Amino acid sequence: MRGPPTASDGAAGAVAGVAVPACPVCGERGSRELHSGLRDRVFGVAPGRWNLRRCTSCGTARLDPRPADAAIGDLYAAYYTHAPPQANIAPAGIGGALRALRNAHINARLGYDLRPAWRAGRIAGRLLPPLAAIAERGVRSLPAGERLLDVGCGNGEFVAEAAAAGWRASGIDLDAAAVAVGRAAGLDLAEQSVQERAAREPQAYDAVTLSHVIEHVPDPVAFLRAVHQLLRPGGQVWIATPNLASLTHRRFGADWVHLDPPRHLVLFDHDALARALTAAGFASIRRLRPTPTAGPASAISAAVARGVCPANGARAVGAAERLRAAGADLFAQLDLRLADELLVLASRP
Ligand SMILES: [Zn+2]
Repeated sequence: MRGPPTASDGAAGAVAGVAVPACPVCGERGSRELHSGLRDRVFGVAPGRWNLRRCTSCGTARLDPRPADAAIGDLYAAYYTHAPPQANIAPAGIGGALRALRNAHINARLGYDLRPAWRAGRIAGRLLPPLAAIAERGVRSLPAGERLLDVGCGNGEFVAEAAAAGWRASGIDLDAAAVAVGRAAGLDLAEQSVQERAAREPQAYDAVTLSHVIEHVPDPVAFLRAVHQLLRPGGQVWIATPNLASLTHRRFGADWVHLDPPRHLVLFDHDALARALTAAGFASIRRLRPTPTAGPASAISAAVARGVCPANGARAVGAAERLRAAGADLFAQLDLRLADELLVLASRP
């Protein structure tokens, strides 16, 4: 018998680890090594080396060992979400005319009543599916509804956007500092787990959104079951998570930013994510058209490859890399399985 696992490379302050002998999605033990000896090169706060294993049955990848539950909070000390939310500017940086076109598309396609809205946007959205995908991402491709919960909401940036689009929007997160920042900005946020919220408000929501959250969860099926419990029958969950089958993962390998060890505990391809959703009781699982994200993912991955901690800036990349990223985004429009992110909607029957 081996002792309690750690992810130590011999350095002081190693993060305590927990072995993960079985797949957290299908329960099978058969696996192969996908990457070994991974280090935290994105935020540079967690010592140790980590291995990513891929289930030979369902394709889900898991960190094994993963950080012990008690150690997980410390891994987010320098995370993205501690700045105040930029409320009511959805989506950030878009000009007034583009916004009016976007609004018209969303109103026609998803039943919102956003203003101002220019009718030309309805035509543009029909003719240009990639632009439609970018527009719809502003409301996470959800049809208009009453109550929305953003799980892993951070400082509440999307809660503010959803409220501006007409939702009665709330958010939960385990990060007390991020929640405090959003609450101070007047948003309905709580420091709460999804299981706690589901026990208090079963079947209360038309929509639950999980933006880059599920890969941080040790037991994704139990987590999705709690999400299922939050939704009314017919309610929908929207998920964005890194895609193991992406061109950017193939290109950057162990330097791919979305490996993000030891914060990302599970990673999926489309079929593996669909399997987790089905196991949790979801149906009507629909793969959404990706939005172009290979550019930023490539820039950060290139910084990781160069040994520059991207949390400290230095993400500039050359023309060749930008061209390659544009190519990856183009291929992902032709074959959605190759996109940098998995974007999925699923329903509670
Ligand atoms: Zn599996």
